[in-house]
Amino acid sequence: MSAREISGEVGIAEKEVAEHLPHIARSVSSQGKKIIITPAKCLNCGYAFEDRKRFTRPGRCPQCKKSHLQSPRFRIC
Ligand SMILES: [Zn+2]
Repeated sequence: MSAREISGEVGIAEKEVAEHLPHIARSVSSQGKKIIITPAKCLNCGYAFEDRKRFTRPGRCPQCKKSHLQSPRFRIC
């Protein structure tokens, strides 16, 4: 799910999801689960933000400088 959908599930603001995700990641790992992150991707050139350590949404593509980006997706399993 996206940060927006997580915010709906957990009841916190979308921009706070990025701040809370490291904590959420820790608490799910204590339950033997993990968060799988599909990195944000540029919809223009396909550049994937795989090295991105933070959970926030990037502003624009470093490769083509467009801001037509797909938000990162998160899955708990
Ligand atoms: Zn791009």
